[in-house]
Amino acid sequence: MKLGIVGLPNVGKSTLFNSLTKAGAESANYPFCTIDPNIGIVPVPDERLKVLGDLYQSEKVVAATIEFVDIAGLVKGASKGEGLGNQFLSNIREVDAIVHVVRCFENTNIVHVDGSINPLRDIETINLELIFSDIEIIERRIARASKGARNDKSLAKEVELLNRLKEHLEEGKLAKNFETEDEDELKLLESYNLLTYKPVIYAANVAEEDLANDGADNEQVQKVKEYAKEEGAEVFVICAQIEQEIAELDDDEKKMFLEDLGLKESGLEKLIRASYSLLGLLSFLTAGPQETKAWTIKKGTKAPQAAGKIHTDFERGFIRAEIVNYDNLVACGSYNAAKEKGLVRSEGKEYVVQDGDVILFRFNV
Ligand code: GDP
Repeated sequence: MKLGIVGLPNVGKSTLFNSLTKAGAESANYPFCTIDPNIGIVPVPDERLKVLGDLYQSEKVVAATIEFVDIAGLVKGASKGEGLGNQFLSNIREVDAIVHVVRCFENTNIVHVDGSINPLRDIETINLELIFSDIEIIERRIARASKGARNDKSLAKEVELLNRLKEHLEEGKLAKNFETEDEDELKLLESYNLLTYKPVIYAANVAEEDLANDGADNEQVQKVKEYAKEEGAEVFVICAQIEQEIAELDDDEKKMFLEDLGLKESGLEKLIRASYSLLGLLSFLTAGPQETKAWTIKKGTKAPQAAGKIHTDFERGFIRAEIVNYDNLVACGSYNAAKEKGLVRSEGKEYVVQDGDVILFRFNV
């Protein structure tokens, strides 16, 4: 699963990316400083892993991961190939969801490409570029589908949908806000891989002072929240600079630092978790003396396919899954105790795996 961090230059993308990955991508007060997309693999924070690891005295504890891509700065005109525009847009096309960083902090030393702090204008600038790029894709599809439409009813129907979609985009609206109840149309809409159809989280990058009360005193943040509500997107208030400092600390120091700021967890932890649920993902767990591990699956995945995440042989030879819910397991203190209480279930091929299922797969080789 891949998330792309986007936003105008100098809004704090690289700073956020650095703190997410500690990968050391360049962060400088200069537009275009992030030319190549930087990719970072980020563990998904999950308190259950340590508890399970202790319970099983595992040698190793392995977290689930998601991938973040720091995508080079977009400027006005990108869809027409200005700046690094086209490269930027094709990088976004490959991600599953977007983290859109908007600048809500004032700092006269750090130039804003459009001269002032105005996150709504910034959001619109970027969204427009994404919309232009989507329109181009739709136009190409219309040209292709029209050729066959005369002899093919379903193609004719698609052309009609594409034209409606194009009109919608031309009004400056996002593809994900296109309204249709028709199952076939929804399927087609999904298949186009449009940029403005992807789920978005807005990360409102604020100054340190605005962090403690979640940006309530920052007028710009409030505007972003109102805007996002209409679009059906979530907003996270972060301070990228603080996150970068926190990322340098060890666990104990981090806890103290966060307490001083009046926070329970870092903004990044919240953001990573939110991205996970935004993508419709969940974790099941495997545990043993060698390794305790969280595995990522899409909601609705059945037991054999979940087994296939571990090894294709597990899926092919799937017999059944022995499953105990994490909370039950921890409350009982051991797998055997949970089994005695009848809390370990045996599930078959049709079982839909739930978040926090601790699973032992039985399979034929
Ligand atoms: P990018 O071009 O969007 O990747 O922006 P950068 O991450 O390189 O940040 C641009 C500048 O803004 C750098 O000098 C950062 O140190 C600074 N910066 C980033 N986030 C914050 C923040 O939350 N507060 C303040 N005051 N400065 C920040």
